[in-house]
Amino acid sequence: MSEKRDTQEQAEFREYCRRWLEENRPPAPSFRLPISPIEVSSEEQRQYLCAWQKKCHAAGLVGTDYPKEYGGHGHKGFQAIASQEMGRAGVPFMINVIGLGMAAPTILVHGTEDQKRRFLPPLLSSDEIWCQGFSEPGAGSDLASAATSVVREGDNWIVNGHKVWTSLAHFASWMILLGRHTKADKYSGLTYFIAPIRDAKGVTVRPLVKITGETGFNEVLFEDVVIPDSLRLDEVGKGWTVAMTTLTYERGAAEGAGSGGGTSVEEYVNELIALAKRTKRGAATAWDDAVVRDKVAQIAIRAEGLRQNARRMRIGALVDHPMRIPLQSKVLITELIQDLSALGVEIAGPHASRYLGDPGAPDGGHWPHAYMNSYGMTIAAGSNEIQRNILGERVLGLPKSK
Ligand SMILES: Cc1cc2nc3c(=O)[nH]c(=O)nc-3n(C[C@H](O)[C@H](O)[C@H](O)COP(=O)(O)OP(=O)(O)OC[C@H]3O[C@@H](n4cnc5c(N)ncnc54)[C@H](O)[C@@H]3O)c2cc1C
Repeated sequence: MSEKRDTQEQAEFREYCRRWLEENRPPAPSFRLPISPIEVSSEEQRQYLCAWQKKCHAAGLVGTDYPKEYGGHGHKGFQAIASQEMGRAGVPFMINVIGLGMAAPTILVHGTEDQKRRFLPPLLSSDEIWCQGFSEPGAGSDLASAATSVVREGDNWIVNGHKVWTSLAHFASWMILLGRHTKADKYSGLTYFIAPIRDAKGVTVRPLVKITGETGFNEVLFEDVVIPDSLRLDEVGKGWTVAMTTLTYERGAAEGAGSGGGTSVEEYVNELIALAKRTKRGAATAWDDAVVRDKVAQIAIRAEGLRQNARRMRIGALVDHPMRIPLQSKVLITELIQDLSALGVEIAGPHASRYLGDPGAPDGGHWPHAYMNSYGMTIAAGSNEIQRNILGERVLGLPKSK
């Protein structure tokens, strides 16, 4: 079934995606898959998800918009359709989320011809995993304070510093890295690089354990790491401009190379309803309690609001500012998931204290796990407080905060 606004060619491509996904859905693995790509921590999860991304890429559902000479399929404007259909089909997510969503579009905009030909094909197929080295112990919300030092020596750069919260670095071959070549100016003192991570001399990747007990992000230490100048992205001193391109994609104002799949909010709402219907409360179930039903209804209404808001983004005349809906969506969806999983914990009651690995835990321990995990989501990609500041100042034109 086509969408109302599809052209004939788009409708045919949508139909192709639906059929392909139906026929090629991978068998459920014998192990647990994490909630999102940034919690992938075991080798078996990596292998399963890399094989799936590779297959989707070969079928034209990843890198759809990208030029053929860079490993894409040259189908400009069709990635959104492939991503929508992957989401609708509820198939596993693409593991190389930072590569697809951030590194690829940044390289496409700022990279040299050689960089595009070298890096984009294995990124799209997930033969090489990417991570993002922006945050540091002293630079998170105030990203322009990044202090990792990059010093030029002939044709090379010497990198020393400490990146943190680096999702997927434990599997990554490459990092998009923001470094400081001079302290003379906060913004124009930054330069952007593609840094080798895997087996690179002087690079130490140390996994950090989250409140959920999983790893997924890391500290990455650079000690006299040598990077050739050919891995610099754009000009010396243009690091902040390049980082803004990355953040535009990270915050969803533009479509990257495709990272569909995963569980949709609608699916989570259905799981919540199923939990309430199954959970015994004396002689009845939690679903028989009008207060519980009302709380679930409030969540379902917010989920529907989000879905309708996302549809607005596809109607040019309604998009007055490119950041309005993506920034709103990031704040609203992460807070909705937090409230939704908190309600799951409330409905499961004392059983919610039974965690992953406990055979008696409701839904395999999903609810307490999702609840704890949801707090990272309101911080990742810029905390929601910062997103609200940007919405206020840049989208609504309110006075700048002091
Ligand atoms: C799950 C997860 C994955 C991540 N993955 C990556 C990654 O792959 N690569 C990467 O580079 N980074 C990553 N990050 C880091 C993330 O970008 C930072 O955590 C985030 O930008 C906040 O920075 P901070 O942790 O230094 O907090 P701080 O900047 O120290 O902020 C602390 C608190 O103060 C608030 N605050 C700060 N400034 C203001 C202000 N001006 N107005 C109002 N409130 C303010 C913040 O909202 C926050 O609540 C990840 C984080 C998480 C949680």
